[in-house]
Amino acid sequence: MSQPDVLIVGGGIGGLALALSCHQAGIPARVFEAAPEILPLGVGINLLPHAMRELSELGLQPALAAKCIETRELAFYSRHGQFIYKEPRGRHAGYDWPQLSIHRADLHEVILAAVRARLGKDSVRLGHRVTRIDQDSNGVTLHFDAAEPARGKVAIGCDGIHSAVRRQLFPGEGAPKYSGVNMWRCVVRWPAYLGGDTMVSTGWMTVGKTVIYPVRPPDASGRPLINWVAEIERPEAVRQDWTGRGRLSDLMPAFAGLKFDWLDITGMMESTEEILEYPMVDRDPLERWTFGRITLLGDAAHPMYPRGSNGAGQAIVDARFLTGQIRKLGASAQALEAYEKVRGPATAKVVLTNRSDPPDAILREVWTRSGGQRFERIDDVISKAELQAISDRYKKVAGFDRETLKSMPSFV
Ligand SMILES: Cc1cc2nc3c(=O)[nH]c(=O)nc-3n(C[C@H](O)[C@H](O)[C@H](O)COP(=O)(O)OP(=O)(O)OC[C@H]3O[C@@H](n4cnc5c(N)ncnc54)[C@H](O)[C@@H]3O)c2cc1C
Repeated sequence: MSQPDVLIVGGGIGGLALALSCHQAGIPARVFEAAPEILPLGVGINLLPHAMRELSELGLQPALAAKCIETRELAFYSRHGQFIYKEPRGRHAGYDWPQLSIHRADLHEVILAAVRARLGKDSVRLGHRVTRIDQDSNGVTLHFDAAEPARGKVAIGCDGIHSAVRRQLFPGEGAPKYSGVNMWRCVVRWPAYLGGDTMVSTGWMTVGKTVIYPVRPPDASGRPLINWVAEIERPEAVRQDWTGRGRLSDLMPAFAGLKFDWLDITGMMESTEEILEYPMVDRDPLERWTFGRITLLGDAAHPMYPRGSNGAGQAIVDARFLTGQIRKLGASAQALEAYEKVRGPATAKVVLTNRSDPPDAILREVWTRSGGQRFERIDDVISKAELQAISDRYKKVAGFDRETLKSMPSFV
């Protein structure tokens, strides 16, 4: 490949989605990834209809469908296992696109395979850690820790929550901000519950909240792979490392004896072999992302609390919208500015809403109003209309309310 127009820093979900979109739009692009090899890392991720609209336009829906669980319902339960609220999701809620629950490694594998098949094996350069980007009136130069520099027209920092590109643009910003909530994130083979395609959220973070959903179909033993996340308020943050290990003993006091009619949560947690620990962190929204021919995308631009299933989705939408601007305005500073002008404010709203009123505000309201006690009837605590309003408000903020999504023209 001759000199590509778009240099993509980071081969995660956003960077690879951008590479595929550029290819679809006839824009030469290349990905530079720091990791020397791609390992199946992470746990579960949810792809909501706005992300699936974009991945479907890239022709990835069949490959994803083979590896994931199509989520039928989202349900909330109290700490005592009492039903609070549920709603259909994705196609079950009348969307044209599904909601998929998937292992991050499977999502990454599907997008990476498509990039290599469509853009060529050489399109993703592994072992290329970007250390600095220079720019002049004609283009940009990426510098690496252990490779020759690369030249292109624009550089897009898709290098995740610990972005080196962002650090260059905003020196001294420091580490992402700790929310005061620690997370233990795991997958385990466990019997299906609630029909085998329900995402559930239980409890509250003060005493222990869970988010549980299946991410891979049943294996030979008939058990799906279940993703579970435990969240507890903690004053001290642990290290911000996606592969950091946690200990069952640290979270078990909060979850001991938690067994509902339809799921033995303690049993499931105790059967889990590997426990990953990660603090809930984000950053304040930035005033700007674009500096001439350099911009940011995905977690590098707007890391957010994982409280609305929107981290991967917003990165994918960024990638598609940016591609549309580059197609219209060329691989230029103007295209990057046009991208930031729309995606900056849109994602800032999601970051801030994930702090104040994400979908799990449903659990917060019930916890607060019931004083954490058992209730006779949920209607005595909060009305269904109020619960639905919390959920619907978030869909509008994050850009996946059904009617808007249906009528929106394609980004690319
Ligand atoms: C290993 C790993 C595991 C994760 N596990 C989960 C999970 O279980 N659940 C969840 O919700 N989210 C997880 N995430 C985050 C999730 O992928 C993102 O929140 C979301 O998909 C947005 O994607 P992104 O492309 O912005 O960032 P990411 O998907 O994080 O991708 C960033 C990429 O940039 C690369 N990179 C970093 N620095 C440089 C550099 N200087 N030069 C070149 N490349 C660089 C990284 O190696 C990575 O591949 C994980 C991320 C990673 C990297």
